[in-house]
Amino acid sequence: MLPFQTLQEAELALGRELTYAETLWFNYSANKSDYFLFCHNILFLFCIFSLVPLPLVLMELKRSKSIDKYKIQPKVKIPSQGMLKCYKDVMRTFILVVGPLQLVSYPSIKMIGVRTGLPLPSGWEMFFQLLVYFIVEDYTNYWIHRFLHCKWGYDKIHRVHHEYAAPIGFAAPYAHWAEVLILGIPSFLGPAMAPGHMITFWAWIALRQIEAIETHSGYDFPWTPTKYIPFYGGAEYHDYHHYVGGQSQSNFASVFTYCDYIYGTDKGYRYQKQYLGKLRDTWSINGKENGNGIDHKSE
Ligand SMILES: [Zn+2]
Ligand SMILES: [Zn+2]
Repeated sequence: MLPFQTLQEAELALGRELTYAETLWFNYSANKSDYFLFCHNILFLFCIFSLVPLPLVLMELKRSKSIDKYKIQPKVKIPSQGMLKCYKDVMRTFILVVGPLQLVSYPSIKMIGVRTGLPLPSGWEMFFQLLVYFIVEDYTNYWIHRFLHCKWGYDKIHRVHHEYAAPIGFAAPYAHWAEVLILGIPSFLGPAMAPGHMITFWAWIALRQIEAIETHSGYDFPWTPTKYIPFYGGAEYHDYHHYVGGQSQSNFASVFTYCDYIYGTDKGYRYQKQYLGKLRDTWSINGKENGNGIDHKSE
C-alpha cells in the first residue's frame, strides 16, 4: 500500500517525475496491501515450477538425436508417468509446505525491512543485492547440504531429493518437507542482510528457482547464458552429485563452484572429468586412425 493517493502526490513527494516503471508500479500496487504483494510469490513459484520445466519435459519425451547429445546421462529415460508423478509430488509439497510457509513468513519480511514503496530500486541496486543473495545462499546451502549428507541427515531427510539419480527439471524442488523448510533459511538470509524492494525479493525468489530448475535439467547446453557467469556450477556440475548419490562427497554447492573448490569437495568430480577427457581424446585419436570419424563425445 503506497502512502500516496495520486501520481501527482507521489511525484511531489519524490521531487521528480516518476519513471515509466514507477508509474506502472504505482498503478498496480497503490491500493494493494503489502501482505497481498508479498503473497504474489506463491503464484510466481507455482507458475515457475509448472511452466519453466515444460520445454525440458518435451525434450525428454521426444529424445531426438540432435538434442540427446546434450543429455548428461543419455542412457536414462524417464517416462511421462514418472515426470507427471514428480510434478504432482512437488505440487503437493507446494500446497502443504511452501505455500503455508510463505503465508506465515510475512512478519519476518516486514521485520527485515523489505519495502514496497517508491522510488523503485535502480538496476544496479537490484543487481548487487541479487548478487549478495546468491552468494549468501550458496555458502549457507553448501554447509546445510553437506550436513544432510551425514548418515542421519541423508537417511531421514535428504534421501528423498536423491531419488532422481538423473535429475529432471521438475525434480529441482523434489525433497522431504523438512528439507524444503530448512533450505528456506539460506533463501531468507540474503534479503535479511541486504533488504531491498519487494520487486527485488520477487526477482530473487524467481531467479533462484529458475537456477535450480536449470541445474536439475539433466541437459548441458553449450549456449546457455549461465555459462558466462564466473564460478557458476550449472547442470553438469550438480548432475554429478545426483549421479553419485548418497555416497556423494562432491559438489555440494547449489549455485557456484568455489565452495567445493575451497573445502576440497570437488575432487571426485574433477578426477572424473579429467578421466573422461582423457578417454575422449583416446577415442578420437583411435577413431581418426581407423578412419571412421566417429565422435564419441556424447558417450
Ligand atoms: Zn545431496
Ligand atoms: Zn539436487
